[in-house]
Amino acid sequence: MPESVKAASSEYYEGDLLLSQMAMIGLAIPGLGGCLTAIFLGFWYYNREFRAPLWFALAFACSAIGFCISNYLVAKDTMANAILNNTIYGLGLVALFQGLCLAFNRRMPWIVLSAFAVGGVAVAAAIQASAIGLSYRILALNLIHGCLTAYGLFRLRSIWKEHWTGSAVVVAFTLVTLNFLMIAPLTTIGVELSGENFFTSTYWLSMNVVALLSVLAVAGALISVCVSHNVKRIHDDANKDYLTGLQTRRAFERSAQFYCTRRSGRTAASLIIMDLDHFKSVNDTFGHSAGDAVLSTIGDFISKQIRRSDIAGRVGGEEICILLPGVDVNGARRLAARLKKQMRDLSYPGIDATRRITASFGIAEFGRTNAFHEIYAEADAMLYAAKQRGRDRIICGERPIDAGSPIRREVLGREPDRKTA
Ligand code: GH3
Ligand code: MG
Ligand code: MG
Repeated sequence: MPESVKAASSEYYEGDLLLSQMAMIGLAIPGLGGCLTAIFLGFWYYNREFRAPLWFALAFACSAIGFCISNYLVAKDTMANAILNNTIYGLGLVALFQGLCLAFNRRMPWIVLSAFAVGGVAVAAAIQASAIGLSYRILALNLIHGCLTAYGLFRLRSIWKEHWTGSAVVVAFTLVTLNFLMIAPLTTIGVELSGENFFTSTYWLSMNVVALLSVLAVAGALISVCVSHNVKRIHDDANKDYLTGLQTRRAFERSAQFYCTRRSGRTAASLIIMDLDHFKSVNDTFGHSAGDAVLSTIGDFISKQIRRSDIAGRVGGEEICILLPGVDVNGARRLAARLKKQMRDLSYPGIDATRRITASFGIAEFGRTNAFHEIYAEADAMLYAAKQRGRDRIICGERPIDAGSPIRREVLGREPDRKTA
């Protein structure tokens, strides 16, 4: 073969190899996007009541499909590419925010986010039609999608404080927004991108590296959202009474025992046991489901009345226990009096308004060395006495049942704080 032909073909071969190597870099994003789609579909399959992972799966599927269509399947510098590419990416970003709104119980700003997505497609199509150049189309896409994520993040900003997974989401999406708004301008301005030089451009290389990091950051944050949601669900199923929203008997006893093993005998603590009066007749008169509604209303009411440090559980059919750390018998009596008074005035679905729902209360205060079962037995005896004396009343053990009174009596006031059940 003549030398000139040999040289030309090896040059061609080397150029071709470089191009295909550079293009290979771009397989990482669709590959990762495909894996993440499968992972989030798995989360959804595991717990179908929680629909956020389905939207996350759609988002990552869009990232993988959009990437393949725009870079490998449809010629770069064409109207079809401009429209398909922007439509799929825009849909993916909107899906991502819809998933986040579901996960964090926020209202989805459909109109604004969809307007950004549709606007992105329109601008890209207009730039393609006017043949200004691929660089400007890419720049516009990144800026518009940067504004979309910035707005979505602004609307979701309060999740930062709500839970650590919310903070992770905010950090990841801040990085994504910065990438959209900074990397594209830095690598496309002043560069004439085209279908030929695209895969060897600085934009292609930096975009892949940065997009890979962004996808990993976002995926990490979203996986933490899904895992923590499922862990909370399992924990609640095991420890929360579904009717009252209070702890189950087992969870209450575990928390109370744990508190007692750590409690310093110098600090006061009290236990209230409450039992609804003539509840059987409520069921008999208004039906079992009306009785359930009473329990649910009372559970909700008690959750709002107690402090975060208090421990409340449904320990029997219509029997509720509240352990009050740092509170002596007088503080406990005041809380019980408030519960007793306000419960009479609550309205209960399915129950005739003239029928008063009342409860009896037994209270006991911890001494310096009492174990939980001793206090429980004492409070239960007080409850029994309240029932014996005619119900709808509070009876307290007057002093701690062992010899040593705690030194610090009611260290905290009894005003409720905003406990979220
Ligand atoms: P007392 O004033 O002596 O406490 O009378 P009572 O009728 O409340 O008697 P008791 O505490 O022995 O009866 C509890 C009743 O509570 C029995 C049952 O009908 C009802 N109950 C227990 N668990 C549930 C529940 O989950 N839902 C409903 N609707 N009723 C329940
Ligand atoms: Mg009862
Ligand atoms: Mg009972």
